[in-house]
Amino acid sequence: MSEFDVIVRGGRVATAADVVECDIGIRDGRIAALADGLEGAGRVIDATGRNVTPGGVDAHCHLDQRSLDGSVCADDFYSGTRSAAAGGTTTVIPFAIQFRGESLRWAVDDYHRRADGRAVVDYAFHLIVTDPNPQVCGQELPALVRDGYSSLKIYMTYDDLKLDDGQILEVLAAARRTGGMVMVHAENAECIGWLTDRLEEAGRTEPRYHASSRPRPVEREATHRAISLSEILDVPILLVHVSAREAAWEIRRAQSRGLKIFGETCPQYLFLTEDDLDRPEFEGAKCICSPPPRDRENQEIIWDGLRNGTFQVFSSDHSPTRFDDPKGKMVRGTTASFRWIPNGVPGLETRLPLLYSEGVGKGRIDLTTFVALTAANPAKIYGLHPRKGTIAVGADADIVVWDDEREVTIRNELLHHDVDYTPYEGMRIRGWPGTVLSRGEVVWDGEKVSDAAGRGAFLPCDRPEAAAPLGRTVVTELEA
Ligand code: MN
Ligand code: MN
Repeated sequence: MSEFDVIVRGGRVATAADVVECDIGIRDGRIAALADGLEGAGRVIDATGRNVTPGGVDAHCHLDQRSLDGSVCADDFYSGTRSAAAGGTTTVIPFAIQFRGESLRWAVDDYHRRADGRAVVDYAFHLIVTDPNPQVCGQELPALVRDGYSSLKIYMTYDDLKLDDGQILEVLAAARRTGGMVMVHAENAECIGWLTDRLEEAGRTEPRYHASSRPRPVEREATHRAISLSEILDVPILLVHVSAREAAWEIRRAQSRGLKIFGETCPQYLFLTEDDLDRPEFEGAKCICSPPPRDRENQEIIWDGLRNGTFQVFSSDHSPTRFDDPKGKMVRGTTASFRWIPNGVPGLETRLPLLYSEGVGKGRIDLTTFVALTAANPAKIYGLHPRKGTIAVGADADIVVWDDEREVTIRNELLHHDVDYTPYEGMRIRGWPGTVLSRGEVVWDGEKVSDAAGRGAFLPCDRPEAAAPLGRTVVTELEA
């Protein structure tokens, strides 16, 4: 009998802290040893001279999510998690969404039904709260956090989802009582509505005007407001998908004042610009997401934020909507106002390769920063560490062996999602996951991805340390 099921031999093993050359011994799906010269395995994966990183944790992606606008989420838990695996991501955290009037617990149960038997890699759930009534905040949330759903997402925009400031305070207060981590989509809904009305009155309805309807101050104002609400109740928050200078600087300023404010950004803010919304034949719709992609100068600001620690998390915000499809971007036809075009770009599979090639490969970030942004930090912030996000004895054997020699021209036909396009079509990058292990099993070998629907497991999340208050409540009179 072998001591190990698998040995990954001779790689440059990177965590968020160090890069060391060693073997990884895997037993029963977990890392059992890190040492030189390990022997005795049923299978040896030669990683000599290759970078080895923890499997990616994509803490912001949308799979099989219900919507109210007639469009359909193109990926379910099977196609989404296969696509994740082929791109080196072994944990996904999509969203169980509550619509107004619904029970949050019902939304979670419904989402489990969608995931059961479908996932190829492991998954946890965030909760989207759109109806923070006393039953939800007082009863459902505390029980759900105890059961392993310890992160909540709230929206400051989108008519069907947005909360007003009082409701946001309700959610923050509930998070403080329960230890949940709060994620915020920060854009000023009133400004967007007013600008959209004016643009439509002027006949400016093509996809590119989506960017005009959501200029950078719209994001800055809401980011500032969310941070203020967080400060008032002393509840840490994470600002999702930060796109531009102004919002990044609000976060940086809050961090400099000692507040526990976390930031996330996404590939679309490094590799797309608003010019991509102006592609001909309605193809600009392919790149419509919110906040919108900005310009070259802001791309550099976002790179700065990844380097200097403003952002802790790099997620895909994979929001899969097919393009040439009556239930996709064309749900209201190709002459409809940008207002009606479903938001979101796909990116689960390309998230890690893009950052690896353009970040690590081009010297913008080092390998430990890459691991921190794509695996370790999201695992810590959402209560999955140290089981996920690192290469350590006892951790799940979720591992990526990188093939640095592989040059890839990104083509949608190479990808495994059920979306009919990628916004990065034609982009040339260098480096792709050569082997991907999920709990010790090869789910991607560089050519073929696992089709083992149901092998992915649900992961209950702990209350994260990141969500703990600082102990400097502004309104001390509220303290018991
Ligand atoms: Mn969002
Ligand atoms: Mn999103």
